[in-house]
Amino acid sequence: MTAEPTADLIDGKAVAADLRARIGEAVAGIAREAGAAPALAVVLVGEDPASQVYVRNKGVAAKKAGMRSIEHRLPAETGEDEVAALVRALNDDPAVDGILVQLPLPAHVDAARIINEIDPAKDVDGLTETNAGRLMLGKRGLVPCTPQGSVMLAGTARESLSGLHAVVLGRSILVGKPLAMLLLAENCTVTMAHSRTRDLAAVCREADILCAAVGVPRLVQGDWIKPGATVIDVGINRVEEGGAARLVGDVDFEAARARAGAITPVPGGVGPMTIACLLRNTAVAAAHRRGLAAPEI
Ligand code: NAD
Repeated sequence: MTAEPTADLIDGKAVAADLRARIGEAVAGIAREAGAAPALAVVLVGEDPASQVYVRNKGVAAKKAGMRSIEHRLPAETGEDEVAALVRALNDDPAVDGILVQLPLPAHVDAARIINEIDPAKDVDGLTETNAGRLMLGKRGLVPCTPQGSVMLAGTARESLSGLHAVVLGRSILVGKPLAMLLLAENCTVTMAHSRTRDLAAVCREADILCAAVGVPRLVQGDWIKPGATVIDVGINRVEEGGAARLVGDVDFEAARARAGAITPVPGGVGPMTIACLLRNTAVAAAHRRGLAAPEI
């Protein structure tokens, strides 16, 4: 009897824990040399329950890494100008190294305007036009966290990403587009696919590295996977199954695992890397702002 081939699991929790330990050491070094720990300021507008959990988790993680965590919670009805004024005050505060505005913002607040108020040197989400442009131009800057973590995980499964064909499903500003740019910087041949792509299955079957960031539960079927491919599942979808809520990715995990060479689980794959990369960006921003060498993390 031949056993079903089973992909290696890419353990995002373990990779993130390792990264966080290295960040902790870098943060201690920055605090020693600069006389103050790096500080991350998070702005939350409104009472969205998921956002409240994310903000709490980010604060806890920052403190665990030895950083100072500053939270600004504003009521849902706060006006756009008031949110912008808070961001400008944080820009001007020399004690603040990183600023993160939790998305989504309430509908009456223009998120693009608020994000672009952030000083690019403190933009630890990497979403300002300056940092997005720098990524496009191949210049150093602060890079969005989830794409950064996704590429790190792909890198754990392969000796080199250079020359591999990477297919990115999804073209959002937050994930798909920056992920494609990062893979290009790793010398992958990159294909971007999205909701208007014809024959998505055929495009996916070409992928050595398949990254799914669409937000559709189990969209990617097992037979869309090239045998031996590395599958990075960015999707986090809440579904009701058997009367219970559970989280699933954009990939049919069990079916894909039978064909892939390596695959990230959901949860426990890309998710834990996002916060770790946020801490990484904050440490990098802090070192840069204080004239210290970029930490080797
Ligand atoms: P988004 O809704 O902004 O973008 C989704 C993209 O997928 C779009 O570009 C769209 O063209 C494409 N798409 C939608 N339906 C499709 C289909 N049927 N076929 C092909 N393409 C399709 O979402 P996002 O912010 O990029 O997030 C994507 C997923 O990643 C979501 O599940 C989200 O929860 C998850 N996410 C996870 C993390 C993390 O930390 N792991 C972070 C951010 C987002």
